Amino acid sequence: MLRLSELKLPLDHPPEALPAAIAARLGVPPHDLISWSIWKRAHDARRKSAILKVYIFDVEVRDESAVLARFADDVHVAPTPDVAYRPVAVAPKTDRLRPVVIGAGPCGLFAGLILAEMGFKPIILDRGKVVRERTKDTWDLWRRGRLDPESNVQFGEGGAGTFSDGKLYSQIKDPRFLARKVLTEFVAAGAPAEILTEAHPHIGTFRLVTMVEAMREKIEALGGEYRFEHRVTDIDLDKGALRGVRLHTGETLEADHVVFAIGHSSRDTFQTLYDRGVHIEAKSFSVGFRIEHPQSWIDRAMFGPCAGHPDLGAAAYTLSHHCSNGRTVYSFCMCPGGTVVAATSEPGRVVTNGMSQYSRNERNANSGFVVGISPEDYPSDHPLAGIELQRELETRAYVAGGGDYFAPGQLVGDFMQGRASTALGEVVPSYKPGVRPTDLAPLMPDYVIAAMREALPVFGRKIARYDDAQAVLTGVETRSSSPIRMTRGADFQSLNVRGLFPAGEGAGYAGGILSAAVDGIKVAEAVARSMVAKVAA
Ligand SMILES: Cc1cc2nc3c(=O)[nH]c(=O)nc-3n(C[C@H](O)[C@H](O)[C@H](O)COP(=O)(O)OP(=O)(O)OC[C@H]3O[C@@H](n4cnc5c(N)ncnc54)[C@H](O)[C@@H]3O)c2cc1C
Repeated sequence: MLRLSELKLPLDHPPEALPAAIAARLGVPPHDLISWSIWKRAHDARRKSAILKVYIFDVEVRDESAVLARFADDVHVAPTPDVAYRPVAVAPKTDRLRPVVIGAGPCGLFAGLILAEMGFKPIILDRGKVVRERTKDTWDLWRRGRLDPESNVQFGEGGAGTFSDGKLYSQIKDPRFLARKVLTEFVAAGAPAEILTEAHPHIGTFRLVTMVEAMREKIEALGGEYRFEHRVTDIDLDKGALRGVRLHTGETLEADHVVFAIGHSSRDTFQTLYDRGVHIEAKSFSVGFRIEHPQSWIDRAMFGPCAGHPDLGAAAYTLSHHCSNGRTVYSFCMCPGGTVVAATSEPGRVVTNGMSQYSRNERNANSGFVVGISPEDYPSDHPLAGIELQRELETRAYVAGGGDYFAPGQLVGDFMQGRASTALGEVVPSYKPGVRPTDLAPLMPDYVIAAMREALPVFGRKIARYDDAQAVLTGVETRSSSPIRMTRGADFQSLNVRGLFPAGEGAGYAGGILSAAVDGIKVAEAVARSMVAKVAA
């Protein structure tokens, strides 16, 4: 089998054009093609009048070695790599302690799955509720302004990405094709098969709910065990090694291999770990607002006359600008045809994020419009100072929104003119329970606002109407990634606590669903190796 990449065809090519194009590119007669399949598919919309489909194929061809030899200098023709996932260990027969995974987000789910597949029977703890119950609680905030601090957008089965656009791509280096394992498991759990071939796949929030349920059933069938509404409140240490975790129920769970896949919002747990001496460092993240435009504006700007073409779907974008004050402004977590969601997990705070359904057919496009900040910007040099800053900004947003979980919002035109909005206009913001027009500038540090005011017209030159006066900003976006890193060594264990395996986004080792899931696999493998070594010793 060989892999042929960068084969471009017009957007509207007929299906039968594919084998002919493959044969022509490889310089073989069509009857020499034995089989072919699409590995990845994307589109190239740089020339809006002539949008192209870009393919990567796996091809079986007669006399393959001769074909490969002919293309020895062509990076787009190469042997197909082996992408199969193979377990790295088998659980030894022993009555030793079971591994514990804290967090049932994408990282914890995959750590749990991989451990279960190797026969380790993990115990998975989550402070939040089972996903159906959690969905009701989350909607309670959006519909009625009632927050459950233990069951919300951040906490509960499925983790932070459950109410999301379910974008499944990442920039991580992945020489072992672990992302393929993740996508394959997602398809087995009910995700559309196209996520395996689309270059920028997404699932949408409804399917994510049923998928995490299906994954739970699989993990349980393999001997894993879930305990929801079990919040870890403390850890037991002995001579620099983890001996167990304490739960809010008063129970102690003895364990010497514990994965901490707790996400970026478990601030109380970060504090506990810090108080117990676990090595934690402050880390950079980004803050800003959400910006909303009608999706039709974005489609037109990105696809020109091809806007609305069924193969293109709702247009997405990525933007970035390096400002004169040294800051970088960029688009974050763009949700085509989606909604802005209330994403706080703490009372008295307002946080925005975005989600979409699979169809991506809501009226507006939204994305984070954020500015990178780093530990030098934090109120002190305390490792948890980034959290202090997040809380300060989120509290300001809560107050500016009126104190009932409405978000403060502003028209882009008013934001640029430095005046408060008193009403919103053509673009109806989607955040629920609602948006109150105001002045967003006092909610963020001056350098953030200055960077945003510089970037808006720059982005408007890249995407027509991005900086339209009627576009709406909603605040605040503060949970773009973890403000801390629980640094780990080459063996994936905490730098100073043996048996504690920091993992996923909260530990500072992932920045999205796919990268968190891949990190969960790597950490599970490290746990398995360490447990096998302990038994052998
Ligand atoms: C609204 C929204 C939309 C998003 N959209 C996307 C997207 O489209 N694509 C994408 O790639 N990423 C998206 N993200 C980011 C993505 O969700 C995260 O990167 C990812 O979920 C991180 O996975 P994780 O497993 O590391 O942590 P999390 O998913 O945050 O999971 C952590 C889990 O740990 C549990 N927990 C925390 N503390 C404790 C404790 N003390 N005891 C027991 N349990 C605990 C929590 O309840 C939670 O379930 C979105 C995030 C949000 C909030």
